[in-house]
Amino acid sequence: MNYDWQAGAALFASVVVLTMLGRWLAFRIPAVQRMREWNRQEDEQRLTKPKYHPILKQNRIIGMVLYGAFFLFVAPFFANLQPVPLWKAVVDIVAVLMVYDFFYYLMHRFLFHGPVMLKIHALHHQARDPSHIDSAYVHPVETVMGTALFLGTVLGMVVVWVIVVEIQSLTLVYVIGLVFCVAALTAKFSPHYWIYMALITPTIVCFSAFSSAQVANLGEQRLEDTIVGAVRVLIAMGLAVGYARLAGRFDRHVVASSVPI
Ligand SMILES: [Zn+2]
Repeated sequence: MNYDWQAGAALFASVVVLTMLGRWLAFRIPAVQRMREWNRQEDEQRLTKPKYHPILKQNRIIGMVLYGAFFLFVAPFFANLQPVPLWKAVVDIVAVLMVYDFFYYLMHRFLFHGPVMLKIHALHHQARDPSHIDSAYVHPVETVMGTALFLGTVLGMVVVWVIVVEIQSLTLVYVIGLVFCVAALTAKFSPHYWIYMALITPTIVCFSAFSSAQVANLGEQRLEDTIVGAVRVLIAMGLAVGYARLAGRFDRHVVASSVPI
């Protein structure tokens, strides 16, 4: 493990560029653009209240320190400039977001709404008619925990990937992934939706695995690799869509059940 500052700088630059590109693309959609205008107007009114400024400032500083430390002192040890197939990058993005989202859900459900942290989390739930700014109106402890969880997920995926490439038989990894996939899809139609969410993570990790030998022989195996990769991306996308639909159904259930009668 060595400090590769060029790979670290490239990672930082690609995060900045992709974020800007994503924002630009998202606000091409008229409905999203209208929501941004509404949020801006609401946020301006809220910022006239003195309570917002100190909390937002604290969270901005904490975020900058944590992300700065990650990009300066952690990421360059893990990043490298070796070529990665596009489908692998896509699957990694979906996998990181799903793993992070799953654990953030557990953290929010059982810690923030648990007995110990409820008073800390209450700050965030002061908003009765939330606008964009209220997403950042949280206690600094929550910012630290959320950011650490996200960065930990990214690092966790790297560690899992290092372990998976050690397994010589790629077929074995796919068979394990298939077992997880069947179990996850079976659980999806059971009343215990959380089993599906728990199993979907190892499923995607297994399907996104590929050996270092395959990267080295990409020239020879390009066609095979592209087809297998494309199928895996399709499976991962299908699982992600299923997950999103399920999460959406659960959200509606929570909203409906929390409305006082
Ligand atoms: Zn909450």
